[in-house]
Order: sequence, then structure tokens, then C-alpha cells
Amino acid sequence: MTRLTSWVESANSPDTDFPLNNLPYGVFSTNSLEARCGVAIGDMVLDMAALEEEGILTLSEEPVFDVPYWNDVMELGPGTWKLLRERLMGMLLTGSAEQAQVAPHLVPMADVRLHMPMVVSEYTDFYAGRHHATNVGTMFRGAENALPPNWLHIPIGYNGRASTVVVSGTDIIRPNGQLKAPDADLPSFGPCKRLDIELEMGAIVGTSTEMGEPVTAKDADAMIFGYVILNDWSARDIQAWEYQPLGPFQAKAFATSISPWIVTTAALEPFRAPTPKREFDLLPYLQEDGDTLYDIDLSVIIEPNGGTQEVLARTNYKEMYYSAAQQMAHHSSSGCAMNAGDLLGSGTISGAEKSERGSLLELSWGGKEPITLADGSTRSFIEDGDTLILTGHAQGEDYRIGFGACSGTILPAVKYP
Ligand code: MN
Repeated sequence: MTRLTSWVESANSPDTDFPLNNLPYGVFSTNSLEARCGVAIGDMVLDMAALEEEGILTLSEEPVFDVPYWNDVMELGPGTWKLLRERLMGMLLTGSAEQAQVAPHLVPMADVRLHMPMVVSEYTDFYAGRHHATNVGTMFRGAENALPPNWLHIPIGYNGRASTVVVSGTDIIRPNGQLKAPDADLPSFGPCKRLDIELEMGAIVGTSTEMGEPVTAKDADAMIFGYVILNDWSARDIQAWEYQPLGPFQAKAFATSISPWIVTTAALEPFRAPTPKREFDLLPYLQEDGDTLYDIDLSVIIEPNGGTQEVLARTNYKEMYYSAAQQMAHHSSSGCAMNAGDLLGSGTISGAEKSERGSLLELSWGGKEPITLADGSTRSFIEDGDTLILTGHAQGEDYRIGFGACSGTILPAVKYP
């Protein structure tokens, strides 16, 4: 597929994140407009609430765009998602008869504030990257037992916190917590010393399921609305002391950042990629119909406190062992209800090479091999004032489907108690 041409000139640049092929969904406000639904096109944002109010684009009898979330559109179902995308394409394509009507409702991206694109119903995080799980397992249990015995059969996950999922650009306060060094007799309480990122994709469930009515991976693929880039901020020292036997708790609950634009599965369709070859056949409910991953290039960038940005790692979403469709199927398999707006973290995405690792824990090998930055300083984990930026895009022939950045700056821990 090649780039579609829009009368919004900036959408036709080969390196814009938001060509006509993309049309991602976000929520924006300006000095004069309350937070509402918008669609990114080049360096502009299309004011969906205004289009709806003027009767240029209506999806249902009740307005769905004059609210600061896309959940109502999700609830209208896959048929309406398709219709909406076709209408937007028709309006913005070069030669559209609607150009004169639509153009007054474009707002320069430079003038908007971006907000959370949806109400996060619930947040679940997985551990579905084989290179990441192998690296972490090797550090903590040795290479022989790196992957737990269930790992090749189950997409491992835990229930996270929707309450602290925040949009890119939100500052992140260093968490306090219980810490216990391996050689200490008793725990102490204080600021996390091993603060980390996890480079992930977040899948957004678009179609709800009923309690007691599980779906298979084959069904689940079409129930996913879209994807964002996700940073599962992690306090490694808090995690090491608290995680047995029920998994991560406060080590992950303090913050999760997402990129501001929901990139739809329709925009990503040309970039589908297969899951890797299996050592064991998956159980039938997890078996896929075709390719359920996507070829999305991902980067981890650090802007050290007061310094210049540099890339720490590059990898790709197709490195995952389990797809979001498989994760959603597994999540519902017991009868657990899934809701429109549920956010599923992919798990940390690392490739086979050292330069492809999606966490500082892996990049610095548990702090044993600190990373030297261009300014000569070193990092094993994140310091106060550092900004971490995750970016990603699917690369087409002469266009890209970009996500925008997922960034956060670390502020010092609060005094507590
Ligand atoms: Mn994670």
C-alpha cells in the first residue's frame, strides 16, 4: 500500500506520523475549546465534536464526540468503526467535495493540549516477550531455569491499576516503598533506587464481553480497537522484595504512561506480522487465524537531566511471543468480563541483541554493566530529572503510521510518612 494524498498538505510528508492512512484518535483541548475527541492529520487535529455539532458527521442519535474519551465510539461496534474511518478518509482525501465544510474545523497541533484518549476501564499487564522473560529469568534464576514451566503455554499477566494510567507528558514522581537489600536483615522504607521503564505496546479492547462468556483468540482479534505505546514504569527494588507469591504490586501501581493517539487496527492492517514458531502447540482457545502481531519499529530515548536526547535501544513489536488477541482470549477464558476501554500491556518488548532491550534492567544487566551516555555520565537506572521517551511507527513504502511519543520526566520522591 502507498500513501493516500490529502488536501491537508502536511499529511503528505513521508515522515509525518499522521498521514491520511493513519487517522488516529485522541482527546484535545485548547484555550477556547473544552476537552473533546479529535483525529490527527499531518500537523493538524480535526475537531470531531464540531463536525458532529454541525451535522457534518454523525454516528448515532446521541452525540459521541463532545466528550473527553473514545469509549462511546468503541461501544458502537466494529461496523461503526469501519464506517467512521471511511467517512474520515472521504472528507480528507484530495479532491473531497467536503473540503470547504471540514477545513474550518482543523486546529493546529501546536495549539492543543492532549489528554488521555479514553477512560481506562481496567489495566492488565502481560509478560509475553520471550527475550525479555529469558533475560530477566537468567538474571534471577540462571540460564537453565530462565523461562518458568508455564511460560510457553500461557500468556502470563497480572491485574494492574487503571487509576494511575496517564497520558504522555505527565511527570512521574519517584515512588517510595519497602526495600530490602539481599544482605540486609530487615526492610527499610524510602525512595526507589532502581527505577526503570518497560517498553510495551498497549492494546485497547473495543468490544466488551459478558461475564461467563469467554472468547477465543480467533474472535478476539476483531474485538481490539487499536494500540498505543505504553511505558510500564517499574520500581525494581520494591518489586524484588514484594513480588512473591502474588506478583508485582506497588512496584508497578504508581504510574503507567501511554502515547496520546489510539492508532486503529485498520491503520495497522498492512503491517500484520506472524507470531514466532512455537515449541509446543498452543491450546485451541489460543490458536490464531492468520497473523496477529504487527511490524512496528520501536525506540527508547533518554534525555538525561539537562542533557541531549540519545537512543538507548531499538526493537520491534513483532518480537512478541503472544499477541493481544491471544492475551484477550486468555484473559476471558475463565469467564472474566472484558470491557471497552480495557488496556492490555503487551509485556516488555526486547529483541535478541543487547541494543534491542526494552528495559534498563536488561540494558545494564541488573546494574552490573552501567550504560555510558554521550555526556560521559552513566546510568544503571533512571535518575531524578531524566526524561524517558518511547516512540514507534510502522514503516510503509512512502509513509509511516506513527504513534507520537510516550514520554515522562522523573520528579523526586515525596516526603512520606
Ligand atoms: Mn510490564
